[in-house]
Amino acid sequence: MLFARTAPNPPDPGPAVSSSPRVRIAPSPTGTVHLGLARTSLFNWAYARGRGGKFLLRIEDTDRERSTVESERAILEGLAWLGLDWDEGPDVGGPHAPYHQSQRIDRHRAVAARLLEEGKAYRCFCKPEELAAMREEQMAGKRKLAYDGRFRDLDPTEAERRAEGGEAFTLRFRVPEGETRIADLARGEVVFDHAEVEDWVMVRQDGNPTYNFVVVCDDADMEITHVLRGEEHLVNTPKQLLLYIALGLEAPSFGHLPLMLGKDKKKLSKRSGDVSLDDYRNQGYPRLAILNFLALQGWALDGEHDLFTLEELVEKFDVADVAKAGAVFDIDKFQWMAGEYLRQETPAELAAHCAPFVASAGLMTADELEERGDWFVEVVRGEQERIRLYSELPGRIEHYFGPDDEVAYDPKAEKGARKREGRVETLLAYLEWLKGRTDLAEPAALGEATKTWIEERGAKIPELFQPLRCALTGMGGGRDLFEIIALLGAERTFARIEHGARRLG
Ligand code: GLU
Repeated sequence: MLFARTAPNPPDPGPAVSSSPRVRIAPSPTGTVHLGLARTSLFNWAYARGRGGKFLLRIEDTDRERSTVESERAILEGLAWLGLDWDEGPDVGGPHAPYHQSQRIDRHRAVAARLLEEGKAYRCFCKPEELAAMREEQMAGKRKLAYDGRFRDLDPTEAERRAEGGEAFTLRFRVPEGETRIADLARGEVVFDHAEVEDWVMVRQDGNPTYNFVVVCDDADMEITHVLRGEEHLVNTPKQLLLYIALGLEAPSFGHLPLMLGKDKKKLSKRSGDVSLDDYRNQGYPRLAILNFLALQGWALDGEHDLFTLEELVEKFDVADVAKAGAVFDIDKFQWMAGEYLRQETPAELAAHCAPFVASAGLMTADELEERGDWFVEVVRGEQERIRLYSELPGRIEHYFGPDDEVAYDPKAEKGARKREGRVETLLAYLEWLKGRTDLAEPAALGEATKTWIEERGAKIPELFQPLRCALTGMGGGRDLFEIIALLGAERTFARIEHGARRLG
């Protein structure tokens, strides 16, 4: 409960000592999972899991106009897909329910009323035009843009009377004089002069409370011990800390995670590339690669190993080791990492992950994928070394599908095949020989026998292999030719060679 964790006075804003932390993420449901949210979630999750703590999910839906149910659903789904399970939240409940900020409004109102009564907040009757004029004046005078405190000293009885008379007002926090030190877990000591903090709005004219106010109410009520969030919130921390002090509460420890930067060293945004988790899911980045890569955005295992497991992250992660400098998002490294993870999967796992991409490329239906499951796994196995993303698979295996007399020849592969003298005779002779064999489904045996056949003809391997590969796949390179023959089956292999001999003639 909000008033239960009262600290001895004066309250100590330093780190709260807790053996089992309670951390949270508090996304606003106004979009999908941004990479920044995914990383903040990962770090909070790892922090809790490594210390026997609790990881909470609270939906900050006080901005009614911008919040949507679809976005909330997308956020929950995205984080669950990442595997960042939460112990308390809107879907799983918990001892501090409700976990929708909008449903805690009575609580927020009660806290606001208490602060008003204690004189720690006051009513401000500034009209929007008045605030705009104040701003303009400050801009013209090249002064700091801040509320000038003009209603700070209005007699409370007078303020009460005006409010009762129906005059609109906001509730502002009365920032006391002095300075406050924050022992930021990631950045070290941050000192701020209260003069830098204006008397900020806690409750708007329409009665809706603002983020800085409710986040403190909810974090306190939910007994949050550590607030780990993006650096962009550092400007809010002084306001929040002063509110804890005003409420006589022990503040949580704060740790601000460095900004994620694009290659241009500017804050990662749509301009610098894809910023939503969905973008990477849809491109077929392996889940574990995404998590590993996100962990590197501001943290390192030991400075030597870029690849590490979630278990290692959980064991070693500490906010104290989080970098202060912004983390540059390196897409090339991300793709490399995706490939590394993809290769750690078994062919069956990889096939399952690639299946949706193959289906949406129209190569196989879900039913076909099911019926020809073993065949598909074998197709995938041959590409495992050659792709980095699940989405790259369809382009690499297209040639298995479609009519045998319409295999698309890559111009370079075709040119290479055409350079081989006697290609037509070789292909046709090989076709005849092949038709007499019974080991088309045994790549190793057929490969050996083929090599002997070439030797006996006094030919060289590329004289057959290059036109043969072009005829079977249309490509210049790829997996073992005899594996391809096994996968195509006798009939389609024969048809393709026959067609190839004609086309390459
Ligand atoms: N709703 C805020 C956000 O999504 C939460 C910030 C915080 O963690 O305090 O950025």
